Amino acid sequence: MRPLRICYVSSEITPFAKTGGLGDVSGALPAYLHRAGHDVRVFVPLHSLIDVEAHEFAPLPDLQDIPISAGGSRYPISVFTAPLPGSDLAVHFVHCPALYDRPEIYTNDPDEALRFAVLSRAVIEVCQRLRWAPDVFHCNDWQAALLPFYLKTIYAWDELFAHSGTMLTIHNLGFQGVFSSLILEQLGLGSCEHLLDADDIQGGRVNFLKTGIQHADCLTTVSPTYAREIQTPEQGMGLDAYLRSRRAHLRGILNGVDYRQWNPSTDPHIRHRYSEKSLGRKEKNKEDLLLSVDLPYRKRVPVVGMISRLTPQKGIDILREPLPEFLSQRDLRLVVLASGSGEYERFFALLEDSFPEKVRFWRGYNTELSHRIEAGCDLFLMPSLYEPCGLNQMYSLKYGTVPIVRKTGGLADTVTLYDWKTGIGTGFVFDHYVPDAVRWALDYALDVYGRPEPWKRLMLNGMACDFSWEVQGREYVELYSELGSRSAAVT
Ligand code: ADP
Repeated sequence: MRPLRICYVSSEITPFAKTGGLGDVSGALPAYLHRAGHDVRVFVPLHSLIDVEAHEFAPLPDLQDIPISAGGSRYPISVFTAPLPGSDLAVHFVHCPALYDRPEIYTNDPDEALRFAVLSRAVIEVCQRLRWAPDVFHCNDWQAALLPFYLKTIYAWDELFAHSGTMLTIHNLGFQGVFSSLILEQLGLGSCEHLLDADDIQGGRVNFLKTGIQHADCLTTVSPTYAREIQTPEQGMGLDAYLRSRRAHLRGILNGVDYRQWNPSTDPHIRHRYSEKSLGRKEKNKEDLLLSVDLPYRKRVPVVGMISRLTPQKGIDILREPLPEFLSQRDLRLVVLASGSGEYERFFALLEDSFPEKVRFWRGYNTELSHRIEAGCDLFLMPSLYEPCGLNQMYSLKYGTVPIVRKTGGLADTVTLYDWKTGIGTGFVFDHYVPDAVRWALDYALDVYGRPEPWKRLMLNGMACDFSWEVQGREYVELYSELGSRSAAVT
């Protein structure tokens, strides 16, 4: 197969700037594609929170001060590159202080739509200047979802892209990028209103994700189950009809794991590295973790971990009753690393106050601690209401930390229920979004934990799973080549 030209556009990338799974995927999938010999160029904003001193940033001389006009204003953008750590792939950063000099990656500022619309346009304009025609523009989430529409409208004149395909990956349908249609003029799309969703325009809105769903050549989402779920009214978040109408072009591809980052035998963040053959060392990480968060360590007392953005999606509501019950009745520890909505933060803070010897709530974001939790816990809790893919359950499996998950989205595709009789299965999976289901799963998990042999088998089952990009990435390459075959004939 000839090497493909892939232009990958994302709002975040690990380890430079990350809020969740999108960042991890944007760092790992392009790195895999690069290793596989494809010409992949990744574009992300140069957010001011990126520590430029910690990486080797260099300006690309021919790509400085490119003017992008929008609604009477000009936004000059410049391109810097820096190598992706652990790879020799150079990431392209779009520098535009007027838009990306903000304390956070995402904001509620009035120009949020413009910030990311300019990213799409910047990518197109840079490709034009490089005379580089990608086989595929791979756009991620609403932040890059206007790119296919731009190619079909204000850049339709450019023959360079006549054979380029477009792919939109939906990482989370819960974030759609909905703005007042008054901004269209400013986005350079004032004359294209008639091509946008008529109901939205009538309602005075523009929906970036919906526009991408309607105009990208191909759609993917991050697990096969989520691909089915989002086509239902229950989980389609208002876009299910649009997704159903494009079902022939929608595929669910499970996210991969970057095992160079998440591997207990090489992880630089943990003190005692271990593998299937040295599981005893995992116990030392547990001791370390508990000591570091000032909780008493005792052998054979299970530790449950959570790492999460605290939003309704993550299922905290069905923990409100079972967690205090289990903590008062059973000997266990709970270590939570999370931040987000105030009501959920208060719930965990109260839990810590009520059970100071059993619960530690670390409010905030902490990469190092997230690795130590994966290595030091026995169980990992993800009771999500919905979960497009979820990465932490896959990290947990690799670390021999048994996941307790709700059977939804990618959680359903990656964790299988442990069966006492056969010894098959990798975790504890419950169906219904109710507190009783959590009670059942926790009870079952603690039962199995109490029996060392089945428990060891369960850990090893999980550690043997392979969700690497080497496996998952092939599906993307297949799709890229289908899209790229249109251009093969002319290049
Ligand atoms: P989502 O993208 O919905 O947040 P995922 O499970 O796909 O969920 O990805 C979450 C990623 O973000 C994982 O790498 C996880 O370790 C990381 N993460 C989430 N919250 C925190 C936190 N408070 N501190 C450190 N890492 C976090």
